[in-house]
Amino acid sequence: AREAPPPHLTFYTSQLSDWEQRLNRLEQELRTALDEHQFRLYLQGQFDPAGHLAGAEVLLRWQHPRDGLLAPGDFIAEAEHSGLIRPMGQWVLDQACALLSGALHDSGLSLSVNVSVQQLHDDAFMTHLTQLLEHHDFAPRRLILEVVESLLVTPGIAARLDALRELGVRLALDDFGTGYSSLRYLQDFRVDEIKIDKVFVDAITSRRDAPLVRSIIALGKALELRVVAEGVENAMQQDYLRARGIDFLQGYYLARPEPIDVFLRRLERLPPA
Ligand code: C2E
Ligand code: CA
Ligand code: CA
Ligand code: CA
Repeated sequence: AREAPPPHLTFYTSQLSDWEQRLNRLEQELRTALDEHQFRLYLQGQFDPAGHLAGAEVLLRWQHPRDGLLAPGDFIAEAEHSGLIRPMGQWVLDQACALLSGALHDSGLSLSVNVSVQQLHDDAFMTHLTQLLEHHDFAPRRLILEVVESLLVTPGIAARLDALRELGVRLALDDFGTGYSSLRYLQDFRVDEIKIDKVFVDAITSRRDAPLVRSIIALGKALELRVVAEGVENAMQQDYLRARGIDFLQGYYLARPEPIDVFLRRLERLPPA
């Protein structure tokens, strides 16, 4: 017969809430996922106002052996909480650089990669990125790191962002306008691009004007930043954004996130730029 667990352990496990136990299991599964290569990258095109493909955002998916294809909403929070976002983010960056110097080399497309603030703080991240840029053959400016503005208010982060720009990569403020002090970020951090969050794009409807979207685009222009709109879902939003001078558009109306091989096959069928 199996030995009974020591009394203090029985106590401990019985005190763990269902929720805590679920999180522990998720963390274990994330570790396995890294070891067993269960993560996949999807690419969602970004288009200039004339409709030409200009780049893509890299979006993480998890091909879970039991639960199927999972989106970041199902696992990123736990990855952040457990610190696993660092090795996961490093894997994403590896794959993106390999694409830029490999299958996407001659396309000239840029790739935008979401970076967690934990990665930014990690000294190993800088070393790793520097090595990637040395070992892969592509212009660093084709790599755009997207950081969520609401997470940037930590000491030392401005210096870190400057160091990244010195490597030649570009920086984007993601989910722009949804934090509490967006304008302050633009003053304190030098970035190359702002991404207008989907909540503002959603506000573009036939019934009313979208003064915030208009103003964010004007702000971006005044600061000489690239302005990208995310979550564009219909022709009306596209037309509105184009008429107000948006630089790039991203959203289901233009292209859905696709597995890399699907994205590449479609790219081959496009006429050369
Ligand atoms: P995000 O950076 O704001 O990325 C845009 C999200 O909106 C993506 O969701 C994308 O699939 C979705 N989307 C794009 N166009 C449309 C549209 O027209 N309509 C609607 N309803 N949705 C649209 P996804 O792929 O589920 O990713 C969610 C979030 O997870 C991302 O939000 C990003 O913050 C995070 N994320 C994704 N990949 C990574 C990664 O590699 N590392 C880190 N740290 N975070 C990631
Ligand atoms: Ca993003
Ligand atoms: Ca967003
Ligand atoms: Ca985001």
